[in-house]
Amino acid sequence: SAQPEVHEFQAETRQLLDLMVHSIYSNKDSFLRELISNASDALDKLRLESLLDKDLDVDTSDLHITLVPDAEKRTLVVADNGIGMTRDEVVGLIGTLARSGTAELRRSLAEAREKGVSDAAAEELIGQFGIGFYSTFMVAEKVTLVTRKAGETTGTRWESTGDGTYTIDDVPDAPQGTSVTLALKPADTEDHLYDYADKSKLRQLVKRYSDFIAWPIRMDVEKTVPVEKPESESESAEDDKAPETKTVIEAETINSMKALWAKSRSEVSEEEYHEFYRHVSHAWDAPLETITLQAEGTFEYQALLFIPTQPPFDLFMRDSKVGIHLYVKRVFIMDDCAELMPEYLRFVKGVVDAADLSLNVSREILQQDRQIRAIRRRLTKKVISTVTEMRDSRPDDYRTFWDGFGRVFKEGLVNDPDNRDALLKASSFASTHSEEELTTLADYIARMKSGQDTIYYMTGESRQQIVNSPHMEAFRAKGIEVLVLSDPVDEMWVSAGAEFDGKSFQSIAKGAVDLDADDEDSDDTSKDEREKAYADLLSWLTTTLSDDVSETRLSSRLTESPACLVGDTFSMSPQLEKLYRASGQ
Ligand code: ADP
Ligand code: MG
Repeated sequence: SAQPEVHEFQAETRQLLDLMVHSIYSNKDSFLRELISNASDALDKLRLESLLDKDLDVDTSDLHITLVPDAEKRTLVVADNGIGMTRDEVVGLIGTLARSGTAELRRSLAEAREKGVSDAAAEELIGQFGIGFYSTFMVAEKVTLVTRKAGETTGTRWESTGDGTYTIDDVPDAPQGTSVTLALKPADTEDHLYDYADKSKLRQLVKRYSDFIAWPIRMDVEKTVPVEKPESESESAEDDKAPETKTVIEAETINSMKALWAKSRSEVSEEEYHEFYRHVSHAWDAPLETITLQAEGTFEYQALLFIPTQPPFDLFMRDSKVGIHLYVKRVFIMDDCAELMPEYLRFVKGVVDAADLSLNVSREILQQDRQIRAIRRRLTKKVISTVTEMRDSRPDDYRTFWDGFGRVFKEGLVNDPDNRDALLKASSFASTHSEEELTTLADYIARMKSGQDTIYYMTGESRQQIVNSPHMEAFRAKGIEVLVLSDPVDEMWVSAGAEFDGKSFQSIAKGAVDLDADDEDSDDTSKDEREKAYADLLSWLTTTLSDDVSETRLSSRLTESPACLVGDTFSMSPQLEKLYRASGQ
């Protein structure tokens, strides 16, 4: 087409771009990491595609990433010869920020602004969501992307200055792959930090952020080399003059390309792990925990896993993704490999590299594969034990973990009975023992009254609601600790028959909790007498309220309120009833 098509950004995208253009995010360097990360993904995809589709007509003999800075024109090109994008993909992926979190991010930012929070807090928000390709607008006045999909003949140009619109155009002679050209903002002379057309700056950034990328990242560098002369001449000239030199331009690979998961822990720095985490998880925070595992024997594999610090916005969304990438002998096979991690550990990010899988393994095969199942079992146990260790050695980090992921983690108490004990051991709970601190079950048991043989709990919508419940009165009066369970998932696992250390869980809102049995001063005759005295009242109440209650009885559990409603031992709690109703059952 002769005229480029002009498209408008979606409102949400426009707002995000606006944010980038006025870059409140101070770590502008990150744009390079994002572009290299995208290029690396594109190369992974092309290699896999060419292995699976023998008819795909592409040259994969020299897959690489190139950086071309031009200090005079103040441009920087980041190019790859990877999978490329079709015109529709460009519009879908680049034109409309396909990420479902954009609206969420915008809302959070608007809220934050209203509260007048600092730029640092806004940055943190952006870091939490990640912004990928759009981060280029922090450093560029204009961004031009030219791409041609592997196997297609025509390419596409996308261009924008980050205001309301972008243009789309056909490019008949585009090389296969993708190149992104940034027209850099004027250099900030005060601060050379922002000079992204400077080769030494770029080299430094690649080393810092992208060293582990598995594909060569090349940049032309000027080198001084001796001028080669015929043997006889150079020998005679040896002692009187310095050897003649000339300047040549040579492409140099500036990253070391080491696969971090294949290295032992002592060979890799924390910073390198962190950058790798950001690469695989597309996140901007730092991992709370790094887990390495190298298995030998029947099934040989290596795993490098991370527990994030911040929960992603989509943790509870239906299409939330599992963050494990599967490699087979260093060849990328797929991301979001759900077969490698149970759903309740979906927040774990990282890489598994298995030695004995076929490269064209499909999701269906994965589900059946013995090796995959063995790996998943082992990784699951490893993550759980890591969480337990974290709780014992780094309580503050554990608290961060628990506040962010505890609700997801506890889904395992319902869905993974095999690991329930280990999961209970790694879990913490709010209780009436302390308003702020959480308790482990072991600590709860250590504080149990003599004669108490069950773990008391109450579920509800909030701590407030639970502790103010009349059911709590007798327990408070007698100083018996009660677990305060206010996450929706709690109702599910306590009703799934969990036990800990031989103790069952008992709801204080269900059945006849007989506190007097533990009470040595209690006097059975007086109880009988009281029952006689109130018999008429009780039977009148039962008849009058027969539509709503099945029985009315005297209770020793109330000390302040005159009466309360109690569920049958085997009835649904109000929370479970609500859950079922909400799911239409
Ligand atoms: P993310 O990488 O987290 O998906 P980005 O904003 O960085 O988000 O990129 C959006 C999408 O655009 C990518 O998922 C990918 O499909 C596509 N894309 C970006 N850069 C490239 C590239 N160099 N080659 C092929 N596809 C790309
Ligand atoms: Mg990206």
